[in-house]
Amino acid sequence: MSKKYDVIVVGAGVAGLSAAALIAKSGLRTVCIEKDAQAGGRLQSFDMEGGWRVDIGLHMTELGDASSCAEVAKSLGKEIEWAKFSETVEIFREGRWYTLQELITLASEEIEQIKNVMRTVAGMTDEDIQSNDHRCWEDWLKENVPSVVARELFSVNGMIMTTVPDPAEMSAGEILYIARDNLRKKRNFLTAAYPKGGMLGIINPIKDAFLEAGGDLILGTTVDSVLFEGNKVKGVAVQRKSLSPYPSWFYMPDRAIIEAPVVVLAIPLWNLDDVLDLNPYTSLLPEWWIKRYEELKFETTGLIGYTIALKEPVYDRANFLSALCLENTGLPFQAFVPSAFDPDVAPPGKSLMQTDCVVEVDQIFDRFELERLLSLMWKDIQEMFPGIDAKVEWKFPYKCIGCDGLARKPGQVGAFKPDVVAPAVEGLFFAGDTYRGRGLAMNSAALSGKICADEVLKRHGK
Ligand SMILES: Cc1cc2nc3c(=O)[nH]c(=O)nc-3n(C[C@H](O)[C@H](O)[C@H](O)COP(=O)(O)OP(=O)(O)OC[C@H]3O[C@@H](n4cnc5c(N)ncnc54)[C@H](O)[C@@H]3O)c2cc1C
Repeated sequence: MSKKYDVIVVGAGVAGLSAAALIAKSGLRTVCIEKDAQAGGRLQSFDMEGGWRVDIGLHMTELGDASSCAEVAKSLGKEIEWAKFSETVEIFREGRWYTLQELITLASEEIEQIKNVMRTVAGMTDEDIQSNDHRCWEDWLKENVPSVVARELFSVNGMIMTTVPDPAEMSAGEILYIARDNLRKKRNFLTAAYPKGGMLGIINPIKDAFLEAGGDLILGTTVDSVLFEGNKVKGVAVQRKSLSPYPSWFYMPDRAIIEAPVVVLAIPLWNLDDVLDLNPYTSLLPEWWIKRYEELKFETTGLIGYTIALKEPVYDRANFLSALCLENTGLPFQAFVPSAFDPDVAPPGKSLMQTDCVVEVDQIFDRFELERLLSLMWKDIQEMFPGIDAKVEWKFPYKCIGCDGLARKPGQVGAFKPDVVAPAVEGLFFAGDTYRGRGLAMNSAALSGKICADEVLKRHGK
């Protein structure tokens, strides 16, 4: 711990590991410090008794082998192994499932309209997209898509892309960016794949590249604060275990110092005040920046859901399942069956299912509202998958605040997100899905890690 480094990266999520590996590969002595016992952050899988490999919540990777996650891994000389791409999206509507193709065929007169929208989006320039960053998806659809059915289809896609329930609250620019990328690279409005072995299938190759490049990964260690000398970064203080034998009654914190002239905070925006002084009267960061941080730190998304282990499948196709508004909860719904993509994540013949509903963060804070919504959600699941109760081996509900970083609402995407370079202080950088970076959640995090690494290396003349 007394070692000196060129760069300290705080946080071993996909953004921190991507930045750390790219920086270490360029020859800078780099350490990545993570408070949890395992790297991965929100991209996490764990093994459960009986042969189940479970991700935390529902996770698929937009663009799969053409994603920012895959591109970062490739630039580090690693390949992510993909199990499968989702074949189509099935949408639950008026009591039954429809594939996207069925819905489009139902509305045959809309096909030309849908194709026109795809052509328009595929041809958009960066400037076209940026000019829609502060506009809402509902308005863009009203202007560009006359048909109500087609608007509904694009609204479902918008919900999946942004994890925001209401089209009036989704940023049109972010959706157009993701759709353009998908149309150009995969000829589809939205594509998603599942990595072999679950989400650690993305993390492990990037982590390996970091270690092979000589990087040090310190797990189970919380960074307590960033240290400065004047307005220059000097390193970080990390918390060590209390020296007291009775830590819960008599706490004696001990801190160790790790030195480096560059610190990358690859932790979400809402965790920054754990490690930085953000009091506008005493902070090194300028007041305008702190004001923006205060505005954004609660602007995130929420999910509730069930992870369900089934003795036999209730649904066995490798598709993404969705609904814009469930009958009982009144919430948007998403689900898929990871074991239909990678059979190794469930014991032979059994089935693992991930489901979630997109909620407002306030609905999670209210314990009674949360319980009410979860029981209504199970009622919806029973209606969508008749007979499911008899097949459940185990299930658990979950809730999550801050799943996708900054909520991709108008004025909170693209250049509106905080830059990866901290203003007015030397050597401080940020990376992750709450800072500059585009794409669907984990891809925006990986891209932000790459943008951050480029900035750090540029300042080192690399
Ligand atoms: C339930 C759920 C479902 C999701 N579904 C999808 C999906 O389908 N598709 C998709 O693209 N994305 C999805 N996401 C989002 C995706 O997981 C995130 O966008 C991405 O993992 C964020 O990566 P990150 O590196 O920016 O942050 P994180 O993964 O949060 O990494 C930050 C790391 O910093 C560590 N840390 C924080 N403070 C400290 C400290 N003081 N000292 C040391 N370490 C610290 C944390 O422990 C963490 O490991 C989902 C997320 C959740 C939670």
